[in-house]
Amino acid sequence: MDARATYDSVVVGAGILGLAVARELLARQPRARVLVVEQADHVAAHQTAHNSGVIHAGVYYAPGSLKAQLCVDGAARLYDYCDRHGIDARRIGKLIIATEESELPALDELERRARHNGVPEIRRVGAAELKEIEPHATGVAALHSPYTGIVDFRVVCERLAEDVREAGAELRLGWQVDRMQVRGRSIRLTGPGGDVVQASRAVCCAGLWADRLAAAAGAPQDPRILPFRGGYLRLRPERRDLVRGLIYPVPDPSLPFLGIHLTPRIDGEVLVGPSALLVAARDAYRLATLRPVDLRDTLSWPGTWRMAARWWRTGLHEIHLAASRRAFAAHAARYVPSVRAEDLLPAFGGLRAQAVGRNGKLVDDFVLSYTPRAVHVRNAPSPAATSSLALAARIADAVQAHEG
Ligand SMILES: Cc1cc2nc3c(=O)[nH]c(=O)nc-3n(C[C@H](O)[C@H](O)[C@H](O)COP(=O)(O)OP(=O)(O)OC[C@H]3O[C@@H](n4cnc5c(N)ncnc54)[C@H](O)[C@@H]3O)c2cc1C
Repeated sequence: MDARATYDSVVVGAGILGLAVARELLARQPRARVLVVEQADHVAAHQTAHNSGVIHAGVYYAPGSLKAQLCVDGAARLYDYCDRHGIDARRIGKLIIATEESELPALDELERRARHNGVPEIRRVGAAELKEIEPHATGVAALHSPYTGIVDFRVVCERLAEDVREAGAELRLGWQVDRMQVRGRSIRLTGPGGDVVQASRAVCCAGLWADRLAAAAGAPQDPRILPFRGGYLRLRPERRDLVRGLIYPVPDPSLPFLGIHLTPRIDGEVLVGPSALLVAARDAYRLATLRPVDLRDTLSWPGTWRMAARWWRTGLHEIHLAASRRAFAAHAARYVPSVRAEDLLPAFGGLRAQAVGRNGKLVDDFVLSYTPRAVHVRNAPSPAATSSLALAARIADAVQAHEG
């Protein structure tokens, strides 16, 4: 029997993406009945509040990819949003530094991508100008992106939550979706204690648990989310003046991670990191956390083993990084030579929801998939926080297209 839908849309996940989607749906249809459900007892409980806090300008991404399209657009929307709401977002600029001649072809490729993607104000600088911008850094050449900035994404997320409440949406915290079933013209989501909500559609922005929710709704298992922990250290307060803006290495183009960088934060800390270590729990904020269900999902996935066969050396290196402050410092010292292990203090870890295909490939681009009456965000790694307002518009388009 067709039950009458209680809501037009249920959004699962109150990270930056879920809240941006709820806001976008309400902007398009102000009378829509929208519910946001979140398993944690507060918004921004996972990736959104455990990251580098960088507003990316769009340099790295393959031309034509969703990341390329939505990062440039998303950064512009985000700066504008922060301006309008009095949220501190600072264009402190970034250098991507080639420390050796052998990295110059990769730097050329990044410059080509940045220009193709329409990154504002991007410039190539030589060794001398690099030093003028960052007196403690060193390298043979760099890309300078003055438009790249920093923000506290948790603050953005809290403001988005206020927006959606003010627009009439309901936000239920501590409400974990366990089951999804289509019943005629509505979808039923079962939560704590068997509580059920019904809606015309669901939009799942579940981050580290995106694959499980999608599979619960009947989507294929492929790709699976593997949790890669990004561990950060921070500079001692008296050493923060080693860095003025953001300092990044030239990344390995075959991996979706950007390498260990130096990142000033809005609160004045300077982060060094993140690493990228495959861990035994999707919420391994403490490195030793192990959840049997997460470990089983990781180890039973053929893609994990195919990935390991290709990247085992990188994996060993990441274990070394997780265990050794000295190794961390050595990375940073390649482009800021005065950084020493004694300058680094513990900071925090963030868990990346990285989709990995059955073929062992780390999925690079943002991925959406569809089941009846539901849209699933299957891969939204960095720069999805930067891109969130633009990606939300794309998701709302997809919702409308799948109804029409
Ligand atoms: C170490 C690290 C560094 C990063 N640096 C940057 C950066 O500098 N700039 C940038 O743009 N991006 C960065 N990112 C990426 C960025 O943080 C993420 O892309 C973004 O936060 C994704 O937002 P989200 O809302 O999809 O996910 P999340 O913030 O993880 O939110 C998903 C939410 O869904 C909820 N949920 C899951 N399953 C259920 C369920 N069954 N029922 C109810 N609720 C559920 C979760 O509790 C969670 O709150 C970084 C990420 C990491 C981990």
